[in-house]
Amino acid sequence: MNMVFVAVASIIILAYINTLANLSYMLPLNIFLAVVFAAACAALVYFVTDKSKSKLILLNSDLEKSLVSSGTSVWRYDVGKDEFETLFGLPLCNREDAGMHSLMEIINTQDRQHVQQAIEKVVSGKHRSANFTVRCNQGCSDDCYEYYKFDIVAKDKPGMPVTCLIGTERNVSLDKLNDLEYQDVLMSLDLSIRASRMMIWYYDVDSDMLYKIVNNEFVPTRSMHDFLLQAVEPKDRGECIHLYQSLIEGRLEYYFGNVDLQNINGRATGTYECSFISMKNTQGKVTKLAGTCQDITEKHQEHLIVAEGNKRFTLAMKTSNFVLWEFDCETQLFTAYNEPLNHFDDKVKLGIIDYIKFVHPDDVNKLATMNEHLSMRHDVNFSTELRFMDGDHGEWQFYTLTGAPFEKDKFGNVTKYAGIRKNNTHFITLNNELKRAKEKAEKSDKLKTQFIANMTHEIRTPLNSIVGFTQLLQASDKKEDQIKFCQIINNNSDMLLTIFNNVMDLSDLESGVIELKHEQFDMAEQFGMLKDIFAHKMPEGVELVLESPYSSFLVCLDWDRILQILTNFVNNACKYTISGSITIGYRQHEMGMQIYCRDTGKGIAEADRERIFKSFEKVDHYVQGLGLGLSICAALVNTFGGKIGVQSELGVGSLFWAVIPCEPVCQLKSTVEHAALGNNLGSE
Ligand code: ADP
Repeated sequence: MNMVFVAVASIIILAYINTLANLSYMLPLNIFLAVVFAAACAALVYFVTDKSKSKLILLNSDLEKSLVSSGTSVWRYDVGKDEFETLFGLPLCNREDAGMHSLMEIINTQDRQHVQQAIEKVVSGKHRSANFTVRCNQGCSDDCYEYYKFDIVAKDKPGMPVTCLIGTERNVSLDKLNDLEYQDVLMSLDLSIRASRMMIWYYDVDSDMLYKIVNNEFVPTRSMHDFLLQAVEPKDRGECIHLYQSLIEGRLEYYFGNVDLQNINGRATGTYECSFISMKNTQGKVTKLAGTCQDITEKHQEHLIVAEGNKRFTLAMKTSNFVLWEFDCETQLFTAYNEPLNHFDDKVKLGIIDYIKFVHPDDVNKLATMNEHLSMRHDVNFSTELRFMDGDHGEWQFYTLTGAPFEKDKFGNVTKYAGIRKNNTHFITLNNELKRAKEKAEKSDKLKTQFIANMTHEIRTPLNSIVGFTQLLQASDKKEDQIKFCQIINNNSDMLLTIFNNVMDLSDLESGVIELKHEQFDMAEQFGMLKDIFAHKMPEGVELVLESPYSSFLVCLDWDRILQILTNFVNNACKYTISGSITIGYRQHEMGMQIYCRDTGKGIAEADRERIFKSFEKVDHYVQGLGLGLSICAALVNTFGGKIGVQSELGVGSLFWAVIPCEPVCQLKSTVEHAALGNNLGSE
């Protein structure tokens, strides 16, 4: 078409030139030249147009491909005729009579106004183009809308009245769906971050700026320098600076920990759980830090309270000697808290064997019974008293062990037991002491009653004698009787005096007011006088023997108190010996000097030998005496710092002895006598 037009135009132009030049005589040649010229022009035009045509075809083919692949349809809208014409694909208004109202009918009513306004702006020339994404119904059902993206442009030149619009439309429902899903994910991420009170932030090293994410956007906050200075508590600042430098210099890649921050979230000071991770560029330089920051102030405070509570609980358990245990039926192991047997480390699990090792041999059976409950998973509560040897005390401790099922599986089988092991040693010791004190008090009470009864008897007997013989003395004329009565009165007065002296001495000794004299005397000399003192006391048929093997025995002691001890020994021996002899003596001892009194009397049973040295203790209650003599001797010997004891055999006799610490300077009479003395005294 173009070629024909070019050829005709060429002939006309040439004819016109010829006419102008009035060269009609050359017409045949001109006609020939015109035809040749026209052919050349036509060939030229053909060549040129064919090239651009092939280019256009190529362009159209690419354009078509891209339109097909993107699912885009193209249309033209004639404003004057109100008609849509399809240029490519299958647009929504792909009908011959389709006008603007047809498009509006397809568009969702809610979006319609927006579309109308946009198109009107282009038609009126206000805007050159418009684009919008709206919901369109293709007619499958009333509520079946899909998203279409429209791009509209006015075809006419700017400034000219708009007569035609060119538009593209594309179904973007899938994109929209993906977009919405992405938005949803972002929104839920944002919400969950907000719900967790977690801040997400990153730090750009080059610009030294900290950003935080607010509503899915990065918002610059402050420089790291300001942050460290303003937000970090002074006490944590040094550590934080060090941490920051380690991250920036690449020495640390990740950090997770708690930091106290101030002026964050409008809170004066709070505890934040922070995490940091460094990001490096291809050269390995740290360019960014990113992380999270979560306000855990309340949680931290609760944690502190719980930790404090735990500390108190542990302390309370420790002071109360409570061991808390749990038994796992699966592993057959105990987890015990505050347990000396695992050295107070509950991570060290204990087996039943660990307990058996420390339990008292007599209580092993009790533990075995308990172990049977545990291993057979008996659904019972149990409690038993056991003695354990624990490292802390080094002696048997009394424990109460209780337990009960603590956890069961879905079949009702016990899987765990829990219980306590309580150290009762203190209470048991206290209880025993109380028992002993009670027994002692009861005994004292009994002894007191007995003492009063004895005292009454012991005082009344000599008093009666004194009163009776005084009356007889007054009535008697005979000199012999008078002497005899005076003698009896004198003896009974002595007895009374001894009783009072004994009671007074005991009270003095018990209150510790007795002071011993330190006077040097010769025991050998003093001993010689004892025969006169004791001889008249001897019962009939009983011989008094004095054993004094030394020619001199110099000591520095209180002779009166030594005499008092010997007198008590002899008085007792006289009371319980009816035949044989009563021997008194002294000898050198490794501690100083030993005095003794041996009789051939009734003897003392082994069970009574210890208690007779205590106050008011008597073996035979029908024999005269308050039960004070030996206890006074024991108290005196104790004051001397010495020892007292008895050896005896029932029906054979007794040997009472006392060792008095001193440094005697002595001289033996003869070795034969000394050897005999040593043998007679036995072991002591
Ligand atoms: P008492 O002053 O009443 O004799 P003691 O304290 O001197 O009390 O003696 C306590 C008890 O020891 C006496 O009641 C007696 O049973 C026993 N006893 C002491 N000496 C002898 C002894 N030589 N032979 C047998 N029993 C003795």
